Amino acid sequence: MSRPIASLSMDLDNKWAYLRAAGRPDWAERPGYLPLVIDRIVDVLGELDLPLTVFIVGRDLAGDGNDESEAIRQFGQLQSWEPANHSLNHLPWMHTMEAAEIADEIETTHHRILAATGRRPLGFRGPGFSCPDEVLRVLAEHDYVYDASIFPTSIAPIARMVFLIKSDLKGEQREKAKKLYGGFSSLRQPNRPFRRAVDGHQLWEMPVTVMPITRTPIHFSYFTYLASFSTLAAKTYLRTALRMCKLTNTPPSLLLHPPDFLGHDDDSDMAYFPAMNMSRQEKLSIVRWGLKLYAESFDVSLMIDQLKAADRSIASSIQTQKHTPQPSTVTN
Ligand SMILES: [Zn+2]
Repeated sequence: MSRPIASLSMDLDNKWAYLRAAGRPDWAERPGYLPLVIDRIVDVLGELDLPLTVFIVGRDLAGDGNDESEAIRQFGQLQSWEPANHSLNHLPWMHTMEAAEIADEIETTHHRILAATGRRPLGFRGPGFSCPDEVLRVLAEHDYVYDASIFPTSIAPIARMVFLIKSDLKGEQREKAKKLYGGFSSLRQPNRPFRRAVDGHQLWEMPVTVMPITRTPIHFSYFTYLASFSTLAAKTYLRTALRMCKLTNTPPSLLLHPPDFLGHDDDSDMAYFPAMNMSRQEKLSIVRWGLKLYAESFDVSLMIDQLKAADRSIASSIQTQKHTPQPSTVTN
């Protein structure tokens, strides 16, 4: 029986972004773990022959003295990968920004990705799953094919509360963070890709898939968080989730984060992050298991390829755009 198409992505959030979210002043020195973690990701995904769409934060690319471009290019060792845009500064409150600031967050990263990889990003995901109309307008203007900033979960209000309790954010930053994860409105959003017209441009929306019906998260950080309590419960949960996607005809798009490949023995600074009480070996073992199950259950592809399979006009529209390299998924 042929496997239904699915996709796999990673939000390449660097250590400094997590420390800043936790209110730690040393984030400003921009500590990073990308060379270590990318090496490991490439190993694990390589073993399973899995592709990856990578949402890159512009601040980690050339221009700020903190150039992790070389590490990011290592994704080229995978069977295929797709660079995508995850904003310049990873500020999870794009809904509070002026139009010019939003444009800069997207455009600067766009140009840095193109310069570092030679490939034009076609997808965007807002940090903190924030997706205001102005973001969509900028994406349309730059011929993006999709936005992936919707997280249609039932536990967004809980996740936000846990974030606020665990972090030391104060004052204005704390007020802005109260809108994290899209607020209650995210629950009314579809749990499958859909198209919308923005300024006469067709833009696909690719939500981070949640469990059909219950709308609980099924991204890998949640899966490893469950596994930090019970491996059996986590495995049963993921198995059920993938089965439910098949039963409801929901094409899944699952999400990874760098801490899914790190244990407490790698980085004690990350201790506050969910599932960072696990050792490297425990973490890698459960993540490998989950990825293998995903690969056996679905035809796992890049996000852009999952969309091309759903909408054949995408491939030709990418080709006819001016001033762009060849379709980004053809070559590595
Ligand atoms: Zn992120």
